[in-house]
Amino acid sequence: MAAILALVEADPRGLKRSSCEVLTAARTVAEQLRSSVAAVALTGAAELLEQAALYGVSEGIVLEHELLERYSMPGMAAALAQLIEHEQAHIVLMAATARGKELMPRLAAKLRAGYAPDCVELLVHDGQLLARRPIYAGKVIATVRLRTALHLYALRPNVFTARPVEKPVSMVLRRFRPHLSPGECSAVVREVLRSEGKLDVLEADIIVSGGRGMRGPEHFWMVEELAQLLGGAVGASRAAVDAGWRPHSEQIGQTGKTVSPTLYIACGISGAIQHLAGMSSSKVIVAINKDPEAPIFKVADYGVVGDLFDVLPRLAVKLAHFLGKPVPEGFRRVLERN
Ligand SMILES: Cc1cc2nc3c(=O)[nH]c(=O)nc-3n(C[C@H](O)[C@H](O)[C@H](O)COP(=O)(O)OP(=O)(O)OC[C@H]3O[C@@H](n4cnc5c(N)ncnc54)[C@H](O)[C@@H]3O)c2cc1C
Repeated sequence: MAAILALVEADPRGLKRSSCEVLTAARTVAEQLRSSVAAVALTGAAELLEQAALYGVSEGIVLEHELLERYSMPGMAAALAQLIEHEQAHIVLMAATARGKELMPRLAAKLRAGYAPDCVELLVHDGQLLARRPIYAGKVIATVRLRTALHLYALRPNVFTARPVEKPVSMVLRRFRPHLSPGECSAVVREVLRSEGKLDVLEADIIVSGGRGMRGPEHFWMVEELAQLLGGAVGASRAAVDAGWRPHSEQIGQTGKTVSPTLYIACGISGAIQHLAGMSSSKVIVAINKDPEAPIFKVADYGVVGDLFDVLPRLAVKLAHFLGKPVPEGFRRVLERN
Protein backbone atom coordinates (compact mmCIF):
# COMPACT_ATOMS: atom_id res chain seq x y z
CA MET A 1 0.00 0.00 0.00
CA ALA A 2 1.29 3.46 -0.87
CA ALA A 3 -0.41 6.59 0.43
CA ILE A 4 1.12 8.79 -2.26
CA LEU A 5 1.32 7.83 -5.93
CA ALA A 6 3.58 9.63 -8.39
CA LEU A 7 2.49 9.02 -12.00
CA VAL A 8 5.47 9.17 -14.34
CA GLU A 9 5.93 9.33 -18.11
CA ALA A 10 8.77 8.54 -20.47
CA ASP A 11 10.23 10.02 -23.59
CA PRO A 12 12.72 8.22 -25.86
CA ARG A 13 15.57 9.15 -23.46
CA GLY A 14 13.92 7.69 -20.36
CA LEU A 15 11.99 9.37 -17.57
CA LYS A 16 10.70 12.79 -18.59
CA ARG A 17 12.30 15.64 -16.71
CA SER A 18 8.85 16.78 -15.54
CA SER A 19 8.34 13.29 -14.07
CA CYS A 20 11.65 13.54 -12.18
CA GLU A 21 10.31 16.79 -10.72
CA VAL A 22 7.14 14.97 -9.66
CA LEU A 23 9.16 12.21 -8.02
CA THR A 24 11.21 14.73 -6.04
CA ALA A 25 8.04 16.56 -4.96
CA ALA A 26 6.35 13.28 -4.01
CA ARG A 27 9.34 12.18 -1.92
CA THR A 28 9.50 15.57 -0.15
CA VAL A 29 5.77 15.52 0.65
CA ALA A 30 5.99 11.89 1.80
CA GLU A 31 8.84 12.77 4.18
CA GLN A 32 6.89 15.69 5.62
CA LEU A 33 3.66 13.70 6.01
CA ARG A 34 5.54 10.54 7.07
CA SER A 35 3.74 8.63 4.31
CA SER A 36 4.78 5.98 1.85
CA VAL A 37 5.22 6.79 -1.83
CA ALA A 38 5.24 4.69 -5.00
CA ALA A 39 5.94 5.53 -8.63
CA VAL A 40 3.55 4.33 -11.33
CA ALA A 41 4.70 4.27 -14.95
CA LEU A 42 2.18 5.32 -17.60
CA THR A 43 4.31 4.11 -20.44
CA GLY A 44 7.42 1.94 -20.48
CA ALA A 45 7.59 -0.31 -17.48
CA ALA A 46 10.05 -1.82 -15.08
CA GLU A 47 13.22 -0.24 -16.58
CA LEU A 48 11.63 3.18 -16.34
CA LEU A 49 10.70 2.71 -12.70
CA GLU A 50 14.26 1.69 -11.89
CA GLN A 51 15.19 5.32 -12.68
CA ALA A 52 12.73 6.53 -10.04
CA ALA A 53 15.11 5.14 -7.42
CA LEU A 54 17.57 7.90 -8.38
CA TYR A 55 15.02 10.34 -6.93
CA GLY A 56 14.63 8.43 -3.70
CA VAL A 57 11.36 6.62 -4.50
CA SER A 58 11.94 3.00 -3.62
CA GLU A 59 8.65 1.43 -4.66
CA GLY A 60 7.34 1.07 -8.20
CA ILE A 61 4.06 -0.28 -9.51
CA VAL A 62 3.81 -1.76 -13.00
CA LEU A 63 0.37 -1.83 -14.60
CA GLU A 64 0.01 -5.08 -16.48
CA HIS A 65 -2.65 -5.54 -19.11
CA GLU A 66 -2.47 -6.32 -22.80
CA LEU A 67 -5.01 -3.54 -23.48
CA LEU A 68 -2.52 -1.02 -22.05
CA GLU A 69 0.32 -2.04 -24.34
CA ARG A 70 -0.50 0.97 -26.51
CA TYR A 71 -1.42 4.05 -24.54
CA SER A 72 -5.18 4.50 -24.28
CA MET A 73 -6.33 7.41 -22.16
CA PRO A 74 -9.73 5.98 -21.12
CA GLY A 75 -8.08 2.60 -20.47
CA MET A 76 -5.31 4.19 -18.42
CA ALA A 77 -7.82 6.25 -16.43
CA ALA A 78 -9.85 3.10 -15.65
CA ALA A 79 -6.69 1.19 -14.64
CA LEU A 80 -5.39 3.99 -12.44
CA ALA A 81 -8.75 4.48 -10.76
CA GLN A 82 -8.68 0.80 -9.75
CA LEU A 83 -5.08 1.07 -8.60
CA ILE A 84 -5.74 4.18 -6.49
CA GLU A 85 -8.66 2.42 -4.78
CA HIS A 86 -6.64 -0.73 -4.28
CA GLU A 87 -3.74 1.20 -2.73
CA GLN A 88 -6.12 3.41 -0.71
CA ALA A 89 -3.86 6.25 -1.83
CA HIS A 90 -4.88 9.70 -0.67
CA ILE A 91 -2.52 11.84 -2.77
CA VAL A 92 -1.78 11.45 -6.49
CA LEU A 93 0.77 13.66 -8.24
CA MET A 94 1.52 14.01 -11.93
CA ALA A 95 3.15 16.63 -14.15
CA ALA A 96 0.74 18.99 -15.92
CA THR A 97 1.89 17.74 -19.34
CA ALA A 98 -0.61 17.15 -22.16
CA ARG A 99 -1.28 13.66 -20.72
CA GLY A 100 -1.43 14.93 -17.17
CA LYS A 101 -3.94 17.60 -18.10
CA GLU A 102 -6.07 15.00 -19.84
CA LEU A 103 -5.81 12.22 -17.29
CA MET A 104 -6.02 13.95 -13.92
CA PRO A 105 -9.45 15.65 -14.33
CA ARG A 106 -10.85 12.38 -15.67
CA LEU A 107 -9.49 10.51 -12.65
CA ALA A 108 -10.85 13.18 -10.32
CA ALA A 109 -14.31 12.85 -11.86
CA LYS A 110 -14.22 9.04 -11.72
CA LEU A 111 -13.14 8.96 -8.09
CA ARG A 112 -14.97 12.10 -6.90
CA ALA A 113 -11.63 13.51 -5.79
CA GLY A 114 -10.47 17.08 -5.37
CA TYR A 115 -8.14 18.25 -8.11
CA ALA A 116 -5.66 21.15 -8.16
CA PRO A 117 -4.33 21.75 -11.68
CA ASP A 118 -1.14 23.61 -12.64
CA CYS A 119 0.38 23.78 -9.15
CA VAL A 120 3.58 25.80 -8.75
CA GLU A 121 4.22 24.94 -5.09
CA LEU A 122 3.24 22.25 -2.59
CA LEU A 123 3.52 22.91 1.11
CA VAL A 124 2.66 20.98 4.23
CA HIS A 125 1.00 23.02 6.97
CA ASP A 126 -0.34 21.49 10.20
CA GLY A 127 -0.10 18.03 8.68
CA GLN A 128 -2.12 19.08 5.63
CA LEU A 129 -0.98 19.40 2.08
CA LEU A 130 -1.65 22.79 0.45
CA ALA A 131 -1.03 23.73 -3.17
CA ARG A 132 -0.28 27.11 -4.69
CA ARG A 133 -1.46 27.74 -8.24
CA PRO A 134 -1.89 30.75 -10.52
CA ILE A 135 -5.42 31.88 -11.36
CA TYR A 136 -6.86 34.72 -13.51
CA ALA A 137 -4.21 34.12 -16.20
CA GLY A 138 -1.42 34.28 -13.63
CA LYS A 139 -2.47 37.56 -11.96
CA VAL A 140 -3.15 35.92 -8.59
CA ILE A 141 -1.54 32.95 -6.86
CA ALA A 142 -4.19 31.03 -4.91
CA THR A 143 -3.45 28.71 -2.00
CA VAL A 144 -5.69 25.67 -2.29
CA ARG A 145 -6.67 23.12 0.33
CA LEU A 146 -8.56 20.13 -1.03
CA ARG A 147 -11.24 18.87 1.31
CA THR A 148 -11.91 15.47 -0.24
CA ALA A 149 -10.36 12.25 1.06
CA LEU A 150 -8.40 11.78 -2.17
CA HIS A 151 -6.34 14.68 -3.55
CA LEU A 152 -5.02 14.98 -7.10
CA TYR A 153 -2.36 17.53 -8.02
CA ALA A 154 -0.93 18.33 -11.45
CA LEU A 155 2.45 20.08 -11.15
CA ARG A 156 3.51 22.71 -13.67
CA PRO A 157 6.63 21.43 -15.46
CA ASN A 158 9.94 23.20 -14.85
CA VAL A 159 8.86 24.88 -11.62
CA PHE A 160 9.70 22.11 -9.16
CA THR A 161 13.33 21.02 -8.97
CA ALA A 162 14.27 17.45 -9.88
CA ARG A 163 16.78 16.48 -7.18
CA PRO A 164 18.42 13.06 -7.39
CA VAL A 165 19.32 11.62 -3.97
CA GLU A 166 22.98 11.18 -3.04
CA LYS A 167 22.60 7.45 -2.52
CA PRO A 168 20.00 5.92 -4.86
CA VAL A 169 17.72 3.51 -3.03
CA SER A 170 16.97 0.05 -4.40
CA MET A 171 13.66 -0.29 -6.18
CA VAL A 172 11.02 -2.80 -5.14
CA LEU A 173 8.62 -3.48 -7.99
CA ARG A 174 5.05 -4.64 -7.63
CA ARG A 175 2.64 -5.60 -10.37
CA PHE A 176 -1.03 -4.64 -10.60
CA ARG A 177 -3.45 -6.15 -13.09
CA PRO A 178 -6.56 -4.02 -13.60
CA HIS A 179 -9.86 -5.38 -14.93
CA LEU A 180 -10.31 -3.84 -18.34
CA SER A 181 -12.59 -4.60 -21.23
CA PRO A 182 -11.89 -3.62 -24.86
CA GLY A 183 -14.94 -1.32 -24.76
CA GLU A 184 -13.28 0.73 -22.01
CA CYS A 185 -10.12 1.39 -24.00
CA SER A 186 -9.89 3.44 -27.14
CA ALA A 187 -8.28 1.60 -30.05
CA VAL A 188 -5.19 3.34 -31.40
CA VAL A 189 -5.49 3.28 -35.18
CA ARG A 190 -2.30 5.17 -36.03
CA GLU A 191 0.33 7.09 -34.08
CA VAL A 192 1.74 10.26 -35.65
CA LEU A 193 4.84 11.72 -34.02
CA ARG A 194 4.81 15.24 -35.41
CA SER A 195 7.74 16.61 -33.48
CA GLU A 196 9.98 13.56 -33.52
CA GLY A 197 13.50 14.40 -32.37
CA LYS A 198 12.53 17.95 -31.42
CA LEU A 199 12.74 19.14 -27.84
CA ASP A 200 9.27 19.88 -26.46
CA VAL A 201 8.79 23.34 -24.92
CA LEU A 202 7.52 21.69 -21.73
CA GLU A 203 10.83 19.87 -21.27
CA ALA A 204 13.11 22.70 -22.37
CA ASP A 205 15.31 24.77 -20.10
CA ILE A 206 15.65 27.45 -22.78
CA ILE A 207 12.92 28.55 -25.18
CA VAL A 208 13.24 30.93 -28.12
CA SER A 209 9.79 32.06 -29.25
CA GLY A 210 8.65 33.96 -32.30
CA GLY A 211 5.50 35.97 -32.90
CA ARG A 212 3.82 37.94 -35.65
CA GLY A 213 6.86 40.23 -35.73
CA MET A 214 8.73 37.41 -37.52
CA ARG A 215 6.64 38.43 -40.58
CA GLY A 216 6.27 34.92 -41.99
CA PRO A 217 7.23 31.25 -41.67
CA GLU A 218 10.23 31.76 -43.97
CA HIS A 219 11.99 33.78 -41.24
CA PHE A 220 11.51 31.27 -38.41
CA TRP A 221 14.84 29.66 -39.26
CA MET A 222 16.33 32.44 -37.10
CA VAL A 223 14.35 31.31 -34.08
CA GLU A 224 15.21 27.67 -34.84
CA GLU A 225 18.94 28.33 -35.24
CA LEU A 226 19.10 30.43 -32.10
CA ALA A 227 17.23 27.73 -30.16
CA GLN A 228 19.57 25.07 -31.51
CA LEU A 229 22.64 27.14 -30.64
CA LEU A 230 21.41 27.41 -27.05
CA GLY A 231 20.23 23.80 -26.82
CA GLY A 232 16.66 24.97 -26.40
CA ALA A 233 13.22 24.55 -27.97
CA VAL A 234 11.18 26.70 -30.34
CA GLY A 235 8.01 28.36 -29.09
CA ALA A 236 5.46 30.58 -30.80
CA SER A 237 2.68 33.04 -30.08
CA ARG A 238 -0.85 32.20 -31.06
CA ALA A 239 -0.69 34.75 -33.87
CA ALA A 240 2.16 32.76 -35.43
CA VAL A 241 0.31 29.47 -34.91
CA ASP A 242 -3.06 30.76 -36.18
CA ALA A 243 -1.33 32.06 -39.31
CA GLY A 244 -0.11 28.49 -39.93
CA TRP A 245 3.56 29.48 -39.52
CA ARG A 246 4.18 27.10 -36.61
CA PRO A 247 2.52 23.93 -35.24
CA HIS A 248 0.14 24.21 -32.31
CA SER A 249 2.49 22.03 -30.23
CA GLU A 250 4.77 25.09 -30.00
CA GLN A 251 2.11 27.57 -28.89
CA ILE A 252 2.78 29.21 -25.54
CA GLY A 253 -0.04 30.80 -23.60
CA GLN A 254 -3.51 30.45 -22.23
CA THR A 255 -4.70 28.20 -25.06
CA GLY A 256 -1.26 26.69 -25.63
CA LYS A 257 1.36 25.39 -23.23
CA THR A 258 2.41 26.86 -19.89
CA VAL A 259 6.17 26.92 -19.54
CA SER A 260 8.69 28.02 -16.90
CA PRO A 261 12.11 27.68 -18.51
CA THR A 262 15.28 29.18 -17.08
CA LEU A 263 15.52 31.46 -20.12
CA TYR A 264 12.69 32.65 -22.41
CA ILE A 265 13.58 34.78 -25.44
CA ALA A 266 10.55 36.45 -27.06
CA CYS A 267 11.15 37.70 -30.61
CA GLY A 268 8.52 39.95 -32.15
CA ILE A 269 5.90 39.07 -29.54
CA SER A 270 3.82 41.93 -28.13
CA GLY A 271 3.11 40.28 -24.76
CA ALA A 272 -0.69 39.99 -24.78
CA ILE A 273 -2.11 38.82 -21.44
CA GLN A 274 -2.95 35.43 -22.95
CA HIS A 275 0.68 34.92 -24.01
CA LEU A 276 2.03 36.11 -20.64
CA ALA A 277 -0.22 33.56 -18.91
CA GLY A 278 1.92 30.83 -20.46
CA MET A 279 5.42 32.17 -19.85
CA SER A 280 5.57 34.90 -17.21
CA SER A 281 6.87 32.44 -14.59
CA SER A 282 10.04 31.90 -16.68
CA LYS A 283 13.12 32.61 -14.60
CA VAL A 284 14.77 35.09 -17.00
CA ILE A 285 12.82 36.74 -19.82
CA VAL A 286 14.49 38.51 -22.74
CA ALA A 287 12.30 40.46 -25.16
CA ILE A 288 13.24 41.78 -28.59
CA ASN A 289 10.66 44.17 -29.98
CA LYS A 290 10.79 47.33 -32.04
CA ASP A 291 7.97 48.95 -30.05
CA PRO A 292 9.29 50.34 -26.73
CA GLU A 293 5.71 50.37 -25.40
CA ALA A 294 5.12 46.64 -26.05
CA PRO A 295 3.65 45.03 -22.89
CA ILE A 296 6.23 42.21 -23.04
CA PHE A 297 8.78 44.70 -21.65
CA LYS A 298 6.77 44.88 -18.40
CA VAL A 299 7.65 41.27 -17.60
CA ALA A 300 11.08 41.17 -19.31
CA ASP A 301 14.28 41.09 -17.26
CA TYR A 302 16.23 42.24 -20.32
CA GLY A 303 14.70 44.12 -23.23
CA VAL A 304 16.14 45.03 -26.61
CA VAL A 305 14.21 47.75 -28.44
CA GLY A 306 15.05 47.18 -32.07
CA ASP A 307 14.32 45.40 -35.30
CA LEU A 308 14.70 41.67 -34.69
CA PHE A 309 16.09 41.23 -38.19
CA ASP A 310 19.08 43.33 -37.09
CA VAL A 311 19.25 42.16 -33.50
CA LEU A 312 19.02 38.37 -33.93
CA PRO A 313 22.03 37.91 -36.26
CA ARG A 314 24.20 40.02 -33.99
CA LEU A 315 22.95 38.22 -30.90
CA ALA A 316 23.64 34.85 -32.54
CA VAL A 317 27.24 35.84 -33.32
CA LYS A 318 27.87 37.05 -29.77
CA LEU A 319 26.33 33.93 -28.27
CA ALA A 320 28.23 31.61 -30.61
CA HIS A 321 31.53 33.26 -29.63
CA PHE A 322 30.61 33.18 -25.96
CA LEU A 323 29.70 29.48 -26.17
CA GLY A 324 32.73 28.65 -28.31
CA LYS A 325 30.49 27.30 -31.08
CA PRO A 326 30.42 28.08 -34.80
CA VAL A 327 28.01 30.81 -35.94
CA PRO A 328 24.92 28.99 -37.26
CA GLU A 329 24.79 28.62 -41.04
CA GLY A 330 21.81 30.91 -41.77
CA PHE A 331 23.08 33.76 -39.61
CA ARG A 332 26.54 33.41 -41.14
CA ARG A 333 25.10 33.82 -44.63
CA VAL A 334 23.08 36.89 -43.60
CA LEU A 335 26.15 38.53 -42.10
CA GLU A 336 28.27 37.76 -45.16
CA ARG A 337 25.64 39.40 -47.38
CA ASN A 338 25.57 42.63 -45.31
C1 LIG B 1 -9.28 33.40 -25.60
C2 LIG B 1 -7.94 33.76 -26.15
C3 LIG B 1 -6.88 32.89 -25.96
C4 LIG B 1 -5.61 33.22 -26.46
N1 LIG B 1 -4.58 32.36 -26.24
C5 LIG B 1 -3.33 32.73 -26.65
C6 LIG B 1 -2.21 31.90 -26.39
O1 LIG B 1 -2.33 30.79 -25.85
N2 LIG B 1 -0.99 32.35 -26.78
C7 LIG B 1 -0.80 33.56 -27.42
O2 LIG B 1 0.36 33.89 -27.74
N3 LIG B 1 -1.86 34.33 -27.68
C8 LIG B 1 -3.11 33.95 -27.33
N4 LIG B 1 -4.16 34.74 -27.65
C9 LIG B 1 -3.94 35.86 -28.60
C10 LIG B 1 -3.37 37.10 -27.96
O3 LIG B 1 -4.41 37.92 -27.49
C11 LIG B 1 -2.55 37.89 -29.00
O4 LIG B 1 -3.36 38.17 -30.10
C12 LIG B 1 -1.30 37.16 -29.51
O5 LIG B 1 -0.54 36.71 -28.41
C13 LIG B 1 -0.47 38.13 -30.34
O6 LIG B 1 0.63 37.47 -30.85
P1 LIG B 1 1.95 38.28 -31.23
O7 LIG B 1 2.48 38.95 -30.00
O8 LIG B 1 2.83 37.37 -31.96
O9 LIG B 1 1.41 39.35 -32.28
P2 LIG B 1 1.18 40.90 -32.15
O10 LIG B 1 0.34 41.24 -30.98
O11 LIG B 1 0.71 41.36 -33.49
O12 LIG B 1 2.63 41.46 -31.85
C14 LIG B 1 3.67 41.45 -32.76
C15 LIG B 1 4.81 42.24 -32.12
O13 LIG B 1 5.94 42.17 -32.95
C16 LIG B 1 6.59 43.43 -32.92
N5 LIG B 1 7.34 43.54 -34.16
C17 LIG B 1 6.88 43.64 -35.43
N6 LIG B 1 7.89 43.66 -36.30
C18 LIG B 1 9.04 43.59 -35.57
C19 LIG B 1 10.41 43.59 -35.90
N7 LIG B 1 10.82 43.65 -37.16
N8 LIG B 1 11.30 43.52 -34.89
C20 LIG B 1 10.91 43.48 -33.61
N9 LIG B 1 9.61 43.47 -33.23
C21 LIG B 1 8.68 43.53 -34.21
C22 LIG B 1 5.47 44.44 -32.81
O14 LIG B 1 5.96 45.65 -32.24
C23 LIG B 1 4.49 43.72 -31.89
O15 LIG B 1 4.71 44.06 -30.54
C24 LIG B 1 -5.43 34.42 -27.18
C25 LIG B 1 -6.52 35.30 -27.35
C26 LIG B 1 -7.75 34.97 -26.86
C27 LIG B 1 -8.88 35.92 -27.06
